[in-house]
Amino acid sequence: MSDSESISSDGSNDEIFSNDFIESIPDDSDSSESEDDVYDMNVSPLTLEVGLSFLTWKAAFKHIKLWAHQQGFFVRKGRSEKVQSKQRKQTIVCRCEGMYNNKSNKSSKSHRTNCKWHVNLSRPIKNNPNNMIFITTLFNEHFGHDLDTSVCHFEASKAFTKPMLNDIEWMYVSGHLKPLAIKRMLKAKYNRKVYNQDLYKVIYKHRRSNDIRGNDVSQVFEYLEKQKEDDPCWIIYKDWDHETNTLTKLFWMSPNQLESWCKYSDVILNDNTSKTNRYELSLSFFVAIDNNMKSRIVAQALIDRETKDAYAWVLQCTLKATGLMPKVFVTDADPGMDAAIRLKYPSTFAIHCIWHIGQNLPLRLRSKLGGLFDQFKKDFYECRNSLEPEVFEQRWKDLLANYPNAVNYLEKTLYSSKTSWACAFNTNIFTLDIQTTSRSESVNATFKRLLNNSNSTLVDVFLAIEERLEEEQDNNDYANWHNALSITQSATIASNAFNNIINELKEFTTPLIQKIIYNEMELAFSYKAKHLD
Ligand SMILES: [Zn+2]
Repeated sequence: MSDSESISSDGSNDEIFSNDFIESIPDDSDSSESEDDVYDMNVSPLTLEVGLSFLTWKAAFKHIKLWAHQQGFFVRKGRSEKVQSKQRKQTIVCRCEGMYNNKSNKSSKSHRTNCKWHVNLSRPIKNNPNNMIFITTLFNEHFGHDLDTSVCHFEASKAFTKPMLNDIEWMYVSGHLKPLAIKRMLKAKYNRKVYNQDLYKVIYKHRRSNDIRGNDVSQVFEYLEKQKEDDPCWIIYKDWDHETNTLTKLFWMSPNQLESWCKYSDVILNDNTSKTNRYELSLSFFVAIDNNMKSRIVAQALIDRETKDAYAWVLQCTLKATGLMPKVFVTDADPGMDAAIRLKYPSTFAIHCIWHIGQNLPLRLRSKLGGLFDQFKKDFYECRNSLEPEVFEQRWKDLLANYPNAVNYLEKTLYSSKTSWACAFNTNIFTLDIQTTSRSESVNATFKRLLNNSNSTLVDVFLAIEERLEEEQDNNDYANWHNALSITQSATIASNAFNNIINELKEFTTPLIQKIIYNEMELAFSYKAKHLD
């Protein structure tokens, strides 16, 4: 890098790093070699006088900076002059140069005391065969501040170098690391003290610039439009409120998601994060289980309300995009969603997450049943787990008779949807053995954290979904590679007995699915059959 380039990059930094804290970062620290350029106050005393010469701008600036630190003050760059795009003149001023002018009404601190200390540097064109840089002026008087070498030493030694600033940005913006983790890594890599206050100032700067980047649904929408330009297979549907002129709903599916929906729509789970974020939007997403038994997010939507109409809109979007209704649809038993399912997925078998039902029982019945609640819970699950509809009905009658205080809730809320949660009604339905939305809950937890964090933007949420999808694809690629390795199964009673079936399975299913079936075959030999009355 030529010295003139390095100077011009300094100049651009001056504009970006406008606050006083950033200004005090050593200006030569942006050079690529400065990683080992650890600040050292123990160099022998330097001199500064008119006529002193340097080979490069960088050397000149470093010398003046170190000299100033030895005197007990900081410098920064002042005006410069270029001739034919070559740096010819540069003024170095005291950090306290200039008048403090507070544009905002907030009180804040500034170093500026209108100090007049300065040095002029010049690289003359004429009579300068070695292209040297000379000190042509030294005005060595300060105004309005003291010179303090120990303060100077402390501040200079703790200032982040440019590589450290780059690392902080990288760890915070790309790695989403917490300040404590960033601090530990900086300390390990640079073997230096890192003060929380300084670190937070740098992090805060990145956070603000992130905020400007994206802050609402329209931003996500623009991002999606760009994806669709590159690949028209992207699906984007939106709903607009014409009165307030705002985007109220946004549904999207990537080409991969579309393919996964078509492959794995036998059982789809749905979950929603409630709208506690600053945009007042909920994220509704659909999860399928692939042939390696891994969860796949297959569609998602941002919606402004969690009503029957909003859910119906989202379900309609899935139909429009894929033309395929899920065979089984697992939800958290939200009444609005239930109504939407009846409307849009009429032939789909709806399952209510038993975990959510279990969560609601104590909320609705503990105070009504008091000491009887624990026994009630046992009886309720026994009834729910009945495999025969007749057995279920008998046990349900017993529940109503034994717990009269629970009758209202049992009859009104649960009985009408019994086919969605009682085992007796779905034993013949292919559900992939899924009884809860816990798979989507774990996906949900990640998004919930992001959506409920007032610092994350919707673009952050979008990017988190993208990251998650990439991970799913990676898992899939890994599993496919792993499945391709030939594994020899040792012969067992089951593998001998069901040899033909196993060969068929090998042709059509992944090893993971085969394993599940082998286990069932093994168990088949320990079943004890009994006539039901
Ligand atoms: Zn000064």
